[in-house]
Amino acid sequence: MSAEETLAQIAKEVSTCQKCALYHSRKKAVPGEGPATAEIMFIGEGPGFHENEQGRPFVGAAGQFLDELLSQAGLKRSEVWIGNVVKCRPPGNRDPLPDELAACNEYLERQITAINPKIVITLGRYSMGKFLPGAKISSVHGQMRRLGHRFVIAMFHPAAALHQASIKPTIIQDFAQLPKLLEQARAALKSAPADQPPQGREDEPKQLNLF
Ligand code: URA
Ligand code: SF4
Repeated sequence: MSAEETLAQIAKEVSTCQKCALYHSRKKAVPGEGPATAEIMFIGEGPGFHENEQGRPFVGAAGQFLDELLSQAGLKRSEVWIGNVVKCRPPGNRDPLPDELAACNEYLERQITAINPKIVITLGRYSMGKFLPGAKISSVHGQMRRLGHRFVIAMFHPAAALHQASIKPTIIQDFAQLPKLLEQARAALKSAPADQPPQGREDEPKQLNLF
């Protein structure tokens, strides 16, 4: 199966999934979207009201701000992949529960394997918790770390910047570094290609699976 076919297959499974209680509050599942060849995957928390209506990620106020951040960084939304740790809207936009994160994790893992991005960018604490357990966003935001055969950068959630004005300049600065960080990631992975994880590098943390 090609990466495109795998992503389409996952989207189909998610649309009728009943592996956790969130399917009860789902109008449309939000599998995530973007090209199978994306070098960068953005991973947020979960669908909100507008996402649940449209079946697309980040289409509300936070999504508008994400679009601005991307264009300021010289990136087109159409060239990155955007998704979430849970694919169905938690009722009233409550936080996803541990068993919901655990149930949905399989889909995200398959999406990451299919796309094999150079950089995963976490937006918000649940997505950060999956890749960088125990990290504090205030100290790690914007820093690129190698995790196995790709890189991870934790960013503040765009919605946090909308609610807390003091975060806005920080998130803008972090996004502005992305072109440079992408060049660094490309160069590093060229010497150890993304599809061939480097062998015997004990200093590199394995991708930790929190759920
Ligand atoms: N917030 C998220 O974390 N994800 C979305 O898709 C929209 C808003
Ligand atoms: Fe299935 Fe994920 Fe939706 Fe839960 S949130 S029903 S695991 S697709």
